[in-house]
Amino acid sequence: MTFLFAYLAALLGFGQPAPAGEEPAFTVELEPLPGDTADLPPVTPARGENPPLVVIDPGHGGKDPGATSPFGGLLEKHVTLAIARQIRDELAASGRVRAALTRDDDRYLVLQERYEIARRLGADLFISIHADAAPHNDGARGATIYTLSEVASDRQAALLAQRENAADLIGGARLSPDPNVNMILIDLAQRESMNVSAEFARLLHREAAPIFPFRPEWHRFAALVVLKAPDIPSILFESGYLTNPVDVAYISSPDGQRQIATGMRQAIEAHFARRFLAQQAR
Ligand SMILES: [Zn+2]
Repeated sequence: MTFLFAYLAALLGFGQPAPAGEEPAFTVELEPLPGDTADLPPVTPARGENPPLVVIDPGHGGKDPGATSPFGGLLEKHVTLAIARQIRDELAASGRVRAALTRDDDRYLVLQERYEIARRLGADLFISIHADAAPHNDGARGATIYTLSEVASDRQAALLAQRENAADLIGGARLSPDPNVNMILIDLAQRESMNVSAEFARLLHREAAPIFPFRPEWHRFAALVVLKAPDIPSILFESGYLTNPVDVAYISSPDGQRQIATGMRQAIEAHFARRFLAQQAR
C-alpha cells in the first residue's frame, strides 16, 4: 500500500518534483486562495538531513472566536494559539522535527487556507488544535482526537463537525475543489492519509494519556473540512472542555499547556521515528 501510495503520489505530483523529461500525468491544482501570494509562515529548524515538518494549526482566530467558556469567558481562539505555540517551541527546543504555525497572531483564516498552508510548506503531518464545548453542562472532560471520516462516529461527533465547519460561513468563503482532479486517485491518496492519521491518533493517545486526561472515547471520526488535505495525515485535537471548570483551568494554565505540548511532542517524534524505520526496512 505504501508503494502504491508513493506511485500515486508521484502521479499526482505530491512531494518530489517529476524527474527531468518526465511530466507527471497531471498535478493537483487547487484554486488560488485569498492571500495566496502572502509569505508562508516561518519554519523552525531541526537537525539532520531532510527533517520532517509538522504544521500546527491554532483553531479559529480573528472574527471567529470559537467557543466561549462560561467560566471566566475564555475564548477558544486564544487558548488554541497558546497551546500551539507551546508545541512549536517544544519541538524547536528538541530539534528533531521542523514546525510551523498556520497563524501566530489573532487572525482569521478559512479552513481550506489552513491545510493549504501545510500543503504549500510540504508538511508531513497536520495538527489542528481546538477546545471543546459540551451542548449541556454534562460534566464531559478530557481530550479527544478526531480524524477524517465522511460518516460521523456518533451524534456528538456530527455536532462537533457542524460547529467546526461553520468557521467558513463566517467569512462567507465557499471554496470549490478543482473539477479537473482525478477523484479516484485523490480518494486513494486520502485513504492512505486517513490510515496514517488514525495510526498517529493511537500513538498520541499512547504517549500522552499518562501525561494529561483524555475522554474515555478518545478517538472519534467526523467530516471536518480542515482535515481534508488528501496527501497529509491530519488530526484535530480537542484539548479539553471549555464547559468544564477543571478543564478550563488546566488548558489555560502554563503547566497544563506545557504538559499537553510534551505529550504532543513525544507522539510527533515517535511517529516520525516509526515512519523512518519503516522506510529503512523497505
Ligand atoms: Zn474549535
